[in-house]
Amino acid sequence: MNIKKFDRGMVAANCYILSDENEAVVIDPGVSEKIIMEYLEENQLKLKFIVFTHAHIDHILHSKELKQMTGAKTVIHELDNPLLTDSFKNGAFLFGLNNQYEQADITVKDNDVISFSNVTLTVIHTPGHTPGGMCLYYDNCLFTGDTLFYLSIGRTDLGMGDFHDIIHSIKEKLFTYQDDVVVYPGHGKNTTIGFEKKNNTYI
Ligand SMILES: [Zn+2]
Ligand SMILES: [Zn+2]
Repeated sequence: MNIKKFDRGMVAANCYILSDENEAVVIDPGVSEKIIMEYLEENQLKLKFIVFTHAHIDHILHSKELKQMTGAKTVIHELDNPLLTDSFKNGAFLFGLNNQYEQADITVKDNDVISFSNVTLTVIHTPGHTPGGMCLYYDNCLFTGDTLFYLSIGRTDLGMGDFHDIIHSIKEKLFTYQDDVVVYPGHGKNTTIGFEKKNNTYI
């Protein structure tokens, strides 16, 4: 599986394009659909899914245009699906945006899988930053959205957050992965499970 990271999204949200053979999945389209389309075309990739680690505006921003251009299906955890259509809860109003979003095509829950080409991503439900926040795991790679960052964790003061839940999600779920598992967060630079276990003072 190839991983392409774009880190210049709204409020510096990271967008990842995962690809294998001729299929691709976008995680959190916070960067312009033009940048994503350019990469897909250059690499002759067909976009199968647009996956949201959670429903905040910086992670869903360009999903509508991208879906229109590619026909890819949107995927979100079932508990964050209602936030997609709620401009207060997804933060759009907070940033003065009028963007409206539809419900996702597919809702998932803990342990469900998202498959493309030879890749099977496993859904890990990690509530705390939002009720339906989720991480995705495949082959030593862990995409953590706004749950776990390099030396930090996601905010829990944004209305639907819960500090105890996020700590529980990280300790009981993410920290059960091997130390050498690479963490691809929703903001900032990559890290590993081992490094965060040792150095992250929030947990
Ligand atoms: Zn974010
Ligand atoms: Zn967020």
